[in-house]
Amino acid sequence: MSINLANGVRDRLRIAIQKSGRLSEPARALLASCGLSWRESRDRLFCYGETLPVDLLLVRDDDIPGLIADGVCDLGMVGRNVLMEQAADREQRDIAPAYREWRALGFGGCRLDLAVPESWDWTGAEQVAGKRIATSYPGLLAQWLRSRAIEADIVNLSGSVEIAPRLGQADLICDLVSSGATLAANQLKPVETLLRSEAVLAGPAAAFGDVRAELAELLLRRLDGVLKIRDSKLLLFQAPRAAVPGLLELLPDAEAPTVTSIDGSDRLALQALCHGAVTWQRLEDLKRAGAAALMVLPVERMLA
Ligand code: ATP
Ligand code: ZN
Repeated sequence: MSINLANGVRDRLRIAIQKSGRLSEPARALLASCGLSWRESRDRLFCYGETLPVDLLLVRDDDIPGLIADGVCDLGMVGRNVLMEQAADREQRDIAPAYREWRALGFGGCRLDLAVPESWDWTGAEQVAGKRIATSYPGLLAQWLRSRAIEADIVNLSGSVEIAPRLGQADLICDLVSSGATLAANQLKPVETLLRSEAVLAGPAAAFGDVRAELAELLLRRLDGVLKIRDSKLLLFQAPRAAVPGLLELLPDAEAPTVTSIDGSDRLALQALCHGAVTWQRLEDLKRAGAAALMVLPVERMLA
């Protein structure tokens, strides 16, 4: 199979995802649940799309925004932290953004936090003035400092940021945090959040001018369907007509339910798509409010 990676008019969509790391498996799984499949070559750079003309390029996450900006890839799945850091860097160098966040994808959640030694008494952001801050996110940190008119020294490190204070390289750090365990292991505590991040679908700032526009639209429609029903359940139950308004108040996260009358009875059958968790507790509350024959079903696909 010969692969043409050149730019220009194309009749296939090319999506960059992380080759190996935190985002690789969830990104693949999400695309697979949109009905995509590939001629497998997990160990290679390129996966050729089978069910749709949508190919994957497996790369380092840091390369994804640049690949979109250069038109080598059409879309990418990458942490918002990486996308915005590179956008901040482009802005500082007066280069147009070229890409933007199309959708938040609901996995890879983390925060970009300032963290200080546990012994510090934290009184507020102005406390970092004149201090040395170690980070791999100099662009976002500089933006944050600028927006607060604080001057501090940014120590740019590509890894092991969390040990910088103990090594005497910096006074505090600005780094990604999910559970906080790494910070605690290094006697640091988070004090400010600069950015809430998760994996996002990134795409070009400008629209596609060829068949890729239709492919991207198709993919987005499927993606929206998948994201929408990810935690959704179909709830079926019956109830006396008089109990229905009270029951609907217990279902604020449900889309307008379908109500069917049951012949020759004062009872109604209801069907509601709930976007929040449908716990035993909720079912018991509904039962107390008059619902009967309650049933919770998983939702596999949805096309609005
Ligand atoms: P690559 O080899 O592709 O450059 P990497 O080491 O930069 O990989 P990972 O550690 O796999 O990347 O992280 C990828 C993304 O996962 C991060 O950019 C971030 O968006 C997200 N993420 C979620 N939780 C964390 C965390 N605790 N630490 C770091 N990244 C996290
Ligand atoms: Zn990386």
